[in-house]
Amino acid sequence: MILNSRSKRNLDTCIPDALVVCEDTIKEIGFTVFKGHKGMEEQNDNFLKKLSGLEYPKGRHNPFPSLALDFYPSPFNGNWEDDAAFENVARIFIAKAAARGIVVAWGGDWKKPKDTDHLEFISKNGIPYEKHYLKIDP
Ligand SMILES: [Zn+2]
Repeated sequence: MILNSRSKRNLDTCIPDALVVCEDTIKEIGFTVFKGHKGMEEQNDNFLKKLSGLEYPKGRHNPFPSLALDFYPSPFNGNWEDDAAFENVARIFIAKAAARGIVVAWGGDWKKPKDTDHLEFISKNGIPYEKHYLKIDP
């Protein structure tokens, strides 16, 4: 499998390592990246709808390029509550990242709000990503 055009478009708003790990992961399991960067309006809307626990600019989608991405399994049965389907993608993604010295967190491992479609980049070779990407929305 290869990344579809929607995924590529959204990955254009993320850090370059996001594309690298997605390219590794798509060789084993299908998924689509439906969101990369989120600006102020979208982040605060997500916060009000309790889809995110963070107000802008505290979310990892808020820097540009984004340190987080949202995905769904492909083919997707449309069931956002199918935790196992999301976890299958996330576990492979985490393993592929680890093979490159990259630590990724999956929102499905959080208690509240649980966020199974969310993956975020924490560190590479022990160095936190935010040290490299401090720029917020242009
Ligand atoms: Zn997210």
